[in-house]
Amino acid sequence: MHVLLTNDDGILAPGLAALYRAVADLGRVDVVAPADSQSAVGHAISVLKPLAVRRLHVGNTFHGWSVAGRPADCVKLAMIELLDRQPDLVLSGINAGANTGVNVLYSGTVAGAIEGALFGVPAVAISQELCDELDFDRSGAVARRVLDTFLATRPAPGMCISINLPASRPGWPRGVRCCPQAPVSWQEHYRKQVNSDGETIYWLDGWQSDETGTPDSDVAAVRDGFVAVTPLRADLTDRDRLDALRAWPWPRLD
Ligand code: MN
Repeated sequence: MHVLLTNDDGILAPGLAALYRAVADLGRVDVVAPADSQSAVGHAISVLKPLAVRRLHVGNTFHGWSVAGRPADCVKLAMIELLDRQPDLVLSGINAGANTGVNVLYSGTVAGAIEGALFGVPAVAISQELCDELDFDRSGAVARRVLDTFLATRPAPGMCISINLPASRPGWPRGVRCCPQAPVSWQEHYRKQVNSDGETIYWLDGWQSDETGTPDSDVAAVRDGFVAVTPLRADLTDRDRLDALRAWPWPRLD
């Protein structure tokens, strides 16, 4: 098996190395990852500047391409230019922090996986809820077990799932729950300050709401100690509302 591995925390992030170690025996693993942290850049790509790329040897663990760009850039560049052939699987992670609820939209980790899916490759985003005892090697071992089931089912081309691991506690994870993205946002505010140049600046600050949306949501699953597995797709169309929308009295414009 040929795996393309990326992330959004940057090529030096411990979660990336841990995921590399967890899947290295699957076969060939090519790493193409952002040069620095790209958390919360979503599905951004670089169109106003070129992508600087260099080969990097990271921590005696792997050689990879370091790309001064976004996670989606990394996967796109890998698919079109860097790899000699299309991989069998795209992995993105392990992210430091859960990508549940509205974070799915903000996440560069998820975007890396979805970009792979856009190329018709099965893709998996893997994220670890933040906690005091963050142990990415343990997370990698758990993720690998979940991943093995995904691979054993021979996922369809372009199928994308997001795996969110709960905090590390005795007895956790309690199992796997397949669940939808919670329709909940963050409780957010801005910290207003004046910087050294006398400019007014705003720092976004917030925390994930205790609201889990629905009891079967990804947020609820991770909060309850389960690994949340959520199928994702790039198509954001709200199909439930499409027919109603077509019936609206739109202007003829002719
Ligand atoms: Mn991140």
